[in-house]
Amino acid sequence: MNPLVIAIDGPAASGKGTLAKRLADHFGLPHLDTGLLYRAVGWATANTGRMPAEAAAALQTADLDNPALRSDEAGQAGSKVAAIPEVRANLLKFQREFAHQAAGAVLDGRDIGTVICPDAPVKLFVTASLEARVERRYQELRERGADIIKPRVLAEMAERDRRDSERAAAPLKAAPDAYHLDTSDMDADAAFAAALAFISSKGFRSSGP
Ligand code: C5P
Repeated sequence: MNPLVIAIDGPAASGKGTLAKRLADHFGLPHLDTGLLYRAVGWATANTGRMPAEAAAALQTADLDNPALRSDEAGQAGSKVAAIPEVRANLLKFQREFAHQAAGAVLDGRDIGTVICPDAPVKLFVTASLEARVERRYQELRERGADIIKPRVLAEMAERDRRDSERAAAPLKAAPDAYHLDTSDMDADAAFAAALAFISSKGFRSSGP
Protein backbone atom coordinates (compact mmCIF):
# COMPACT_ATOMS: atom_id res chain seq x y z
CA MET A 1 0.00 0.00 0.00
CA ASN A 2 1.19 3.55 -0.73
CA PRO A 3 2.27 5.70 2.24
CA LEU A 4 -0.56 7.53 3.94
CA VAL A 5 -0.38 11.19 2.91
CA ILE A 6 -3.25 13.25 4.29
CA ALA A 7 -3.80 16.61 2.55
CA ILE A 8 -6.05 18.97 4.50
CA ASP A 9 -7.23 22.32 3.17
CA GLY A 10 -9.68 24.93 4.38
CA PRO A 11 -10.12 28.53 5.51
CA ALA A 12 -8.88 30.05 8.78
CA ALA A 13 -10.45 28.65 11.97
CA SER A 14 -12.27 25.87 10.12
CA GLY A 15 -10.78 23.31 12.51
CA LYS A 16 -8.26 21.93 10.02
CA GLY A 17 -5.22 22.51 12.25
CA THR A 18 -6.69 20.66 15.23
CA LEU A 19 -7.86 17.86 12.96
CA ALA A 20 -4.44 17.62 11.28
CA LYS A 21 -2.67 17.29 14.65
CA ARG A 22 -5.06 14.61 15.87
CA LEU A 23 -4.78 12.59 12.69
CA ALA A 24 -0.98 12.87 12.76
CA ASP A 25 -0.96 11.64 16.37
CA HIS A 26 -3.37 8.83 15.63
CA PHE A 27 -1.45 7.49 12.64
CA GLY A 28 2.02 8.34 14.02
CA LEU A 29 2.77 10.64 11.06
CA PRO A 30 4.86 13.82 10.85
CA HIS A 31 2.72 16.95 10.50
CA LEU A 32 3.40 20.24 8.71
CA ASP A 33 1.23 23.29 9.29
CA THR A 34 2.04 25.02 5.99
CA GLY A 35 0.35 28.27 7.08
CA LEU A 36 3.32 28.77 9.38
CA LEU A 37 5.62 29.00 6.35
CA TYR A 38 3.65 31.91 4.91
CA ARG A 39 3.32 33.54 8.33
CA ALA A 40 7.10 33.29 8.77
CA VAL A 41 7.71 34.87 5.35
CA GLY A 42 5.26 37.69 6.17
CA TRP A 43 6.94 38.22 9.52
CA ALA A 44 10.46 38.24 8.02
CA THR A 45 9.36 40.68 5.32
CA ALA A 46 8.03 43.09 7.94
CA ASN A 47 10.90 42.67 10.41
CA THR A 48 14.10 41.98 8.50
CA GLY A 49 13.75 44.22 5.47
CA ARG A 50 14.01 41.27 3.08
CA MET A 51 11.77 41.10 0.01
CA PRO A 52 9.08 38.36 0.32
CA ALA A 53 10.52 35.98 -2.31
CA GLU A 54 13.99 36.34 -0.79
CA ALA A 55 12.60 35.73 2.72
CA ALA A 56 10.88 32.56 1.42
CA ALA A 57 14.11 31.29 -0.14
CA ALA A 58 16.05 31.94 3.10
CA LEU A 59 13.47 30.35 5.43
CA GLN A 60 14.88 27.88 7.99
CA THR A 61 12.90 25.29 9.96
CA ALA A 62 13.91 27.02 13.23
CA ASP A 63 12.17 30.22 12.04
CA LEU A 64 8.84 28.41 12.45
CA ASP A 65 9.24 28.27 16.25
CA ASN A 66 8.76 32.04 16.60
CA PRO A 67 5.72 32.54 18.93
CA ALA A 68 4.91 35.83 17.15
CA LEU A 69 3.74 33.77 14.16
CA ARG A 70 0.60 32.74 16.09
CA SER A 71 -0.85 36.27 16.12
CA ASP A 72 -3.63 37.44 13.81
CA GLU A 73 -1.28 40.11 12.42
CA ALA A 74 1.07 37.34 11.29
CA GLY A 75 -1.89 35.56 9.65
CA GLN A 76 -2.76 38.71 7.70
CA ALA A 77 0.89 39.28 6.74
CA GLY A 78 1.13 35.64 5.66
CA SER A 79 -1.98 35.95 3.54
CA LYS A 80 -0.52 38.99 1.72
CA VAL A 81 2.81 37.38 0.79
CA ALA A 82 1.00 34.12 -0.08
CA ALA A 83 -0.48 35.84 -3.16
CA ILE A 84 3.02 36.31 -4.65
CA PRO A 85 3.82 33.45 -7.08
CA GLU A 86 7.62 33.59 -6.39
CA VAL A 87 6.98 33.14 -2.67
CA ARG A 88 4.85 30.06 -3.34
CA ALA A 89 7.45 28.69 -5.78
CA ASN A 90 10.23 29.11 -3.21
CA LEU A 91 8.25 27.17 -0.58
CA LEU A 92 7.16 24.36 -2.89
CA LYS A 93 10.21 22.05 -2.67
CA PHE A 94 10.28 21.99 1.14
CA GLN A 95 6.56 21.08 1.28
CA ARG A 96 6.82 18.40 -1.42
CA GLU A 97 9.82 16.81 0.30
CA PHE A 98 7.95 16.80 3.59
CA ALA A 99 4.97 15.12 1.91
CA HIS A 100 7.11 12.47 0.26
CA GLN A 101 8.71 11.04 3.38
CA ALA A 102 8.66 7.25 3.31
CA ALA A 103 6.51 7.08 6.44
CA GLY A 104 3.80 9.32 4.99
CA ALA A 105 2.74 12.73 6.33
CA VAL A 106 -0.09 15.08 7.22
CA LEU A 107 -0.03 18.60 5.73
CA ASP A 108 -2.61 21.30 6.21
CA GLY A 109 -3.03 24.58 4.34
CA ARG A 110 -4.90 26.04 1.38
CA ASP A 111 -3.42 24.30 -1.68
CA ILE A 112 -2.22 20.94 -0.35
CA GLY A 113 -4.71 18.77 -2.25
CA THR A 114 -4.61 20.94 -5.39
CA VAL A 115 -0.93 21.92 -5.81
CA ILE A 116 1.42 20.42 -3.22
CA CYS A 117 0.14 16.83 -3.12
CA PRO A 118 -2.42 16.31 -5.92
CA ASP A 119 -1.69 12.56 -5.66
CA ALA A 120 -2.34 12.27 -1.92
CA PRO A 121 -4.56 9.24 -1.28
CA VAL A 122 -6.57 11.16 1.35
CA LYS A 123 -7.75 14.73 0.81
CA LEU A 124 -9.99 16.57 3.23
CA PHE A 125 -11.58 19.97 2.64
CA VAL A 126 -12.61 21.37 6.00
CA THR A 127 -15.03 24.30 6.12
CA ALA A 128 -17.32 26.02 8.60
CA SER A 129 -19.64 29.02 8.34
CA LEU A 130 -18.04 32.44 8.71
CA GLU A 131 -20.05 32.94 11.95
CA ALA A 132 -18.75 29.71 13.50
CA ARG A 133 -15.17 30.50 12.51
CA VAL A 134 -15.35 34.06 13.87
CA GLU A 135 -16.73 32.78 17.16
CA ARG A 136 -13.92 30.21 17.47
CA ARG A 137 -11.17 32.66 16.61
CA TYR A 138 -12.63 35.28 18.96
CA GLN A 139 -12.70 32.82 21.88
CA GLU A 140 -9.18 31.63 21.08
CA LEU A 141 -7.81 35.18 20.99
CA ARG A 142 -9.59 36.09 24.24
CA GLU A 143 -8.14 33.00 25.95
CA ARG A 144 -4.71 34.19 24.86
CA GLY A 145 -5.45 37.52 26.52
CA ALA A 146 -5.86 39.55 23.33
CA ASP A 147 -7.84 42.77 23.65
CA ILE A 148 -10.06 42.45 20.59
CA ILE A 149 -13.70 42.98 19.62
CA LYS A 150 -15.75 40.54 17.56
CA PRO A 151 -16.57 42.90 14.64
CA ARG A 152 -12.83 43.30 14.04
CA VAL A 153 -12.29 39.52 14.02
CA LEU A 154 -15.17 39.25 11.53
CA ALA A 155 -13.80 41.99 9.26
CA GLU A 156 -10.29 40.53 9.24
CA MET A 157 -11.47 37.00 8.60
CA ALA A 158 -13.76 38.06 5.76
CA GLU A 159 -10.89 40.01 4.20
CA ARG A 160 -8.50 37.06 4.51
CA ASP A 161 -11.12 34.65 3.04
CA ARG A 162 -11.56 36.96 0.09
CA ARG A 163 -7.82 37.36 -0.51
CA ASP A 164 -7.12 33.63 -0.19
CA SER A 165 -10.01 32.59 -2.46
CA GLU A 166 -9.70 35.24 -5.16
CA ARG A 167 -5.94 35.31 -5.72
CA ALA A 168 -4.65 33.98 -9.02
CA ALA A 169 -1.82 31.88 -7.50
CA ALA A 170 -3.08 28.64 -5.92
CA PRO A 171 -6.36 30.01 -4.49
CA LEU A 172 -8.13 28.22 -1.68
CA LYS A 173 -10.28 25.56 -3.32
CA ALA A 174 -11.19 21.94 -2.86
CA ALA A 175 -9.53 19.24 -4.96
CA PRO A 176 -12.15 17.41 -7.06
CA ASP A 177 -11.67 14.21 -5.04
CA ALA A 178 -11.59 15.86 -1.59
CA TYR A 179 -13.92 14.74 1.19
CA HIS A 180 -15.86 17.81 2.42
CA LEU A 181 -16.24 18.20 6.13
CA ASP A 182 -18.39 21.10 7.42
CA THR A 183 -17.50 21.56 11.09
CA SER A 184 -19.95 24.44 11.82
CA ASP A 185 -21.97 22.24 14.18
CA MET A 186 -19.27 19.73 15.10
CA ASP A 187 -16.81 19.66 17.95
CA ALA A 188 -13.24 18.45 17.46
CA ASP A 189 -14.15 14.85 18.44
CA ALA A 190 -16.95 14.64 15.88
CA ALA A 191 -14.74 16.09 13.11
CA PHE A 192 -12.00 13.59 13.99
CA ALA A 193 -14.47 10.67 13.93
CA ALA A 194 -15.85 11.72 10.52
CA ALA A 195 -12.36 12.10 9.04
CA LEU A 196 -11.30 8.75 10.47
CA ALA A 197 -14.32 7.00 8.94
CA PHE A 198 -13.42 8.46 5.53
CA ILE A 199 -9.76 7.44 5.88
CA SER A 200 -10.77 3.89 6.87
CA SER A 201 -13.00 3.75 3.80
CA LYS A 202 -9.84 4.31 1.76
CA GLY A 203 -8.28 1.25 3.38
CA PHE A 204 -5.95 3.00 5.85
CA ARG A 205 -5.98 2.01 9.51
CA SER A 206 -3.77 2.98 12.43
CA SER A 207 -1.13 0.36 13.20
CA GLY A 208 -1.06 1.48 16.87
CA PRO A 209 -2.96 -0.01 19.83
O1 C5P B 1 -3.53 28.65 7.96
P1 C5P B 1 -2.96 29.96 8.39
O2 C5P B 1 -3.96 30.92 8.92
O3 C5P B 1 -1.80 29.80 9.33
O4 C5P B 1 -2.33 30.59 7.04
C1 C5P B 1 -1.87 31.93 6.96
C2 C5P B 1 -2.00 32.38 5.51
O5 C5P B 1 -1.06 31.66 4.72
C3 C5P B 1 -3.35 32.09 4.88
O6 C5P B 1 -4.28 33.14 5.05
C4 C5P B 1 -3.02 31.87 3.40
O7 C5P B 1 -3.05 33.08 2.68
C5 C5P B 1 -1.60 31.39 3.43
N1 C5P B 1 -1.48 29.96 3.10
C6 C5P B 1 -1.44 29.60 1.76
N2 C5P B 1 -1.24 28.30 1.42
C7 C5P B 1 -1.10 27.37 2.34
C8 C5P B 1 -1.17 27.69 3.72
C9 C5P B 1 -1.39 29.02 4.07
O8 C5P B 1 -1.59 30.44 0.90
N3 C5P B 1 -0.88 26.10 1.97
